[in-house]
Amino acid sequence: MTAELIDGVAIAGKVRSEVASGVEKLLADTGITPGLATVIVGENIASQTYVRAKRKACAEVGIQSFGHELPAASTQSEVEMLVRQLNADRNVHGILVQLPLPDGLDEEAVLAAISIQKDVDGFHPINIGKLGMKGRDPLFVPCTPDGCMRLLEESGAQFSGANAVVLGRSNIVGLPAAMLLLKRDATLTVCHSRTKDLPTVCREADILIAAVGRSEMVKADWVKRGAHVIDVGINNKWLDHPSDREMVCEISGETFTAHRQDESEKGGRKRVGYLDEKSGSVYLREYLPEGRSIDGLVKLFRRHKLVGDVDFEEVQEVAGYITPVPGGVGPMTIAQLLSNTLRGAQAAGG
Ligand code: NDP
Repeated sequence: MTAELIDGVAIAGKVRSEVASGVEKLLADTGITPGLATVIVGENIASQTYVRAKRKACAEVGIQSFGHELPAASTQSEVEMLVRQLNADRNVHGILVQLPLPDGLDEEAVLAAISIQKDVDGFHPINIGKLGMKGRDPLFVPCTPDGCMRLLEESGAQFSGANAVVLGRSNIVGLPAAMLLLKRDATLTVCHSRTKDLPTVCREADILIAAVGRSEMVKADWVKRGAHVIDVGINNKWLDHPSDREMVCEISGETFTAHRQDESEKGGRKRVGYLDEKSGSVYLREYLPEGRSIDGLVKLFRRHKLVGDVDFEEVQEVAGYITPVPGGVGPMTIAQLLSNTLRGAQAAGG
């Protein structure tokens, strides 16, 4: 058996065109154009890339976006003050604070400062709380898990009474995905790093959502024949390359492998750099910060490919329906953000 592919690009395209029609209708009915405010604190290359993609997506469906960038040295009260200004801004219907925030800032307090009417990421404790409560519905649901549900719906999954297993219990993916499945009357199991015998637990699943951040962890013998498998994971799998070299970090003295760029690959520039996966900062070798351990600094120029938490090649032979990586859950996250921003504007207009 070869599983049917759940095409996240196509389904996200459908969501985007629904949003575009909704935006047009809202403008015609009420004169309101939905607006999303984005907030980045500090110079984080990964955050800047994500936010750029989100703002571009807004423009494509007629949503206004307002970019705010604060310096890394901003204080907690400066960040919260900006959030409060945006809470009061009538042109803003959604506020997105791009995480992670620089060390020293209290993320939880910043997220809690966002008005629940503008919490388009759905991370506010009140919105999360309502998600978990019977008979209550939050105004916003976190984008990635909401995208997973849409992918399941579009691929014909039956929720009521189905055995659903969620691998991972993070606040942004695993936990809200579990609560959404429970709301749809699935019988739920949530797994995490302490769960015993994961393969046996996962094999019971009619619906399996993997959100652990471990490359290709879910193997074919973890999956029930015919199951719906949603792979949230985005992991870099490093590939060997002829120009990979053993290097020594000049500060920590540790050895590691990096891929040196050559002329044909990078506009004639020869340099070796490192990407800090956590902060998204890029350091050239000579500027590696004082005292910085090479731990957590990944090789910037090594060849890699993106893989999920599911071993796609193996699992597609067993599953009934499966999302690829890339092209599965990833495109849904931004599409759901657009949808949430429209919902915020509709609620403000109604
Ligand atoms: P977190 O690291 O916050 O959470 C990972 C979860 O997986 C934790 O609950 C952890 O358990 C559990 N876990 C980790 N290792 C194991 C293991 N060996 N066995 C069982 N459980 C394990 O990750 P996120 O939820 O933020 O993200 C998960 C993945 O999804 C990542 O690859 C991330 O890049 C991707 N992602 C993709 C998005 C998209 O748009 N497609 C959006 C957001 C995330 P415990 O709680 O016990 O520590």
